[in-house]
Amino acid sequence: MVTWSRVKSPWLIHMNTGSCNGCDIEILTALAPKLDAERYGVKLVGSPRHADIMICTGPVTDKMKIAVVKTYEQIPNPKFVVVVGSCGSSGGIYKNSYITLDGVDNVIPVDLYIPGCPPKPEAVFFGIAMLLEKLSSGKLPDLKGEIL
Ligand code: SF4
Repeated sequence: MVTWSRVKSPWLIHMNTGSCNGCDIEILTALAPKLDAERYGVKLVGSPRHADIMICTGPVTDKMKIAVVKTYEQIPNPKFVVVVGSCGSSGGIYKNSYITLDGVDNVIPVDLYIPGCPPKPEAVFFGIAMLLEKLSSGKLPDLKGEIL
């Protein structure tokens, strides 16, 4: 029952950790009516306390570091972190910048990387579907560091 409900209602909290907004637009496109992720119960929520999955975009800037950690800590367990885009995965074009800490995994643990600059909405959709497929096996996925 717990697994069923977890797979049927994976709620997302979206965090722009320093993105240029390109990846954010692709996430919104994945959730919009054309692909309609909500038919699988996937929806955006405004509070980390209601979320199962934290979906991050962009490199972590100095300014966002504390907000990223605090948001992550407020999500109840079990929780998953999905990074969308090259910047969030490795720093991308902002790598070694004086103002960023490069990838999100330098600040919080990441379960799944969806590379691209930006990745297509279908790739975002596929990443979430892959996470749900692993969850539906009844075991919590060990995706640490998996790259699509
Ligand atoms: S991966 Fe590309 S689109 Fe996404 S935040 Fe970085 S520069 Fe922008």
